[in-house]
Amino acid sequence: MIRMVKVGIMICDRNRTCVGNKCFKSIIERDGVFSKYAKDEPIEVVGWMACGGCPGERLEYAPADMKKYGAEVILLASCYLAGYPPCPYIKDHKTFIENYVGLPVVIGTHPMPQNYIDAHAKAGDWEGCEGYLKEIVNDPEGAHKYDSTREDYTESLG
Ligand code: SF4
Repeated sequence: MIRMVKVGIMICDRNRTCVGNKCFKSIIERDGVFSKYAKDEPIEVVGWMACGGCPGERLEYAPADMKKYGAEVILLASCYLAGYPPCPYIKDHKTFIENYVGLPVVIGTHPMPQNYIDAHAKAGDWEGCEGYLKEIVNDPEGAHKYDSTREDYTESLG
């Protein structure tokens, strides 16, 4: 029997109107943190929710609801680290979800797009985030693929 992986995704509220294209694309194409899952291993998103604004208004309820609906892991989407500044509450969110809700947390979803890597290198505001970034920044091909500021981005969606 093929096992279904059930995930819940929390996004930064500064991106609450995001349509989710890059997160969902990375699930289908097994990029970013999803590269560890086999392509024939189905991934079901049981919930997609913005955090509610600093310091995380929906943190108390959203991950617990996602757990109720079957989530086995909560992903804090790449936008937690892509924004300026990166989320200052990321450790609090991770600790609360792991210790109180009782689900493992993965930081990141899709590969960090090159335009954000360049901007944060210039801003110098990723200091201390290295541990959170490791699964989504060491992939030059993915960084290019997910950079929606490049001219041929929409053509590349195929
Ligand atoms: S910076 Fe962090 S706490 Fe604030 S809105 Fe974004 S994810 Fe939520």
